[in-house]
Amino acid sequence: MTEQQHVLAAVADTRVAEDESVVLTSELIRIDTTNTGDPATVVGERVAAEYVAEKLAEVGYETTYVESGGKGRGNVIARLEGADSSRGALLVHGHLDVVPADPSEWSVHPFSGAVQDDYVWGRGAVDMKDMLGMTLATARRFKRDGVVPPRDLIFAFLADEEAGGDYGAQWLVENRPELFEGATEAISEVGGFSITVKDGVRAYMIETAEKGIAWMKLRVRGRAGHGSMVHEDNAVTKLTQAVARLGTHKFPLVMTDSVREFLAAITEITGMEFDEEDLDGSVAKLGAVARMVGATLRDTANPTMLSAGYKANVIPSVAEAVVDCRVLPGRQAAFEKELDEILGPDVEREWVTNLPSVETTFDGALVDAMTAAVIAEDPGAKTLPYMLSGGTDAKAFHTLGIRCFGFAPLRLPADLDFTALFHGVDERVPVDALKFGTRVLDRFLRSS
Ligand SMILES: [Zn+2]
Repeated sequence: MTEQQHVLAAVADTRVAEDESVVLTSELIRIDTTNTGDPATVVGERVAAEYVAEKLAEVGYETTYVESGGKGRGNVIARLEGADSSRGALLVHGHLDVVPADPSEWSVHPFSGAVQDDYVWGRGAVDMKDMLGMTLATARRFKRDGVVPPRDLIFAFLADEEAGGDYGAQWLVENRPELFEGATEAISEVGGFSITVKDGVRAYMIETAEKGIAWMKLRVRGRAGHGSMVHEDNAVTKLTQAVARLGTHKFPLVMTDSVREFLAAITEITGMEFDEEDLDGSVAKLGAVARMVGATLRDTANPTMLSAGYKANVIPSVAEAVVDCRVLPGRQAAFEKELDEILGPDVEREWVTNLPSVETTFDGALVDAMTAAVIAEDPGAKTLPYMLSGGTDAKAFHTLGIRCFGFAPLRLPADLDFTALFHGVDERVPVDALKFGTRVLDRFLRSS
């Protein structure tokens, strides 16, 4: 082939991968992989894993199918050997499961995968079958074209992220760590999407940190008794007072490195200043991402469940509550001390789930490769680090010493309230964003 023919062939291959990313995302959405959190009701992960394995095998990958701790909890892992295996592998991981969706609330059926009005619609469109579609399309292209990436790539498609990964990443890390052997860095959700900050300048938010997830059960014991009597030791009263104290408590503002760097980068791009005296107020001016960033300024403890009693005229001896706590990096001990002060000595507490926070720095060759890949496809764009207030499978891979980033690149319209789509009604992803993301991912994985 002449040089011009090579260029034309590469352009054609890029188009094929872009189009495939749309089809694959849509088809993955059509496989209902609802994860309610109750292992007895989980559906579809096995079917989705088999679908992914078939798409990988079709172009020549050897795949490993693993059920992680329960029947049907399907995971697929595949490797692509790079030019220099001694460099440590890059893990590209994503979860196959989605949160439930109620069709009666949606404009289209949440498991239709409809491609209409320039969007792919359905549960998982942004969390995170979009990234699975882009990853699969890129992995397939690399194999078809004989691309040898600079280092080994590990592709992992995983179960159970939406319920904390006990039947997915957490299980695999504990029971099958050899599947990720040699991996030093990883990319996945939630990051790489653009926000439009000023005069059309896009900033791509790359996740470098996550708050810890600590789900806590509270229990108060009192004296059982008749509901008609004067009663001084009522478990329900004592528990609800403690819950109300905690629910209205404002934890102290803590500037972590990730948040500081994020705000500094926004200031650099926009000139917008953040008044440390009124950080909540200045962050509120950030628009659609204010909600997300605001939740990373302090620890939070939101009461979510209450249970006590069994009859109107019986004072129960026990009352219980569940509180969803999200803790900043470096704050666990101080947070627990503060909890104990607020709750007081009558309240017993225990962790139902306690996954630590993670944080890495926004520097190094991998970050440079992300930035370069984004800018090549969106000249003039910026990248900046941020902390996710939620949690992802990064928590599991972090325990293997892997440096984790949220980088699922999407170029989004300025007026799209992207963060509201996560677990939201009418979840959808722009077709153009998927194609863009596929091109960025291709560049990034060839150059990282
Ligand atoms: Zn997710």
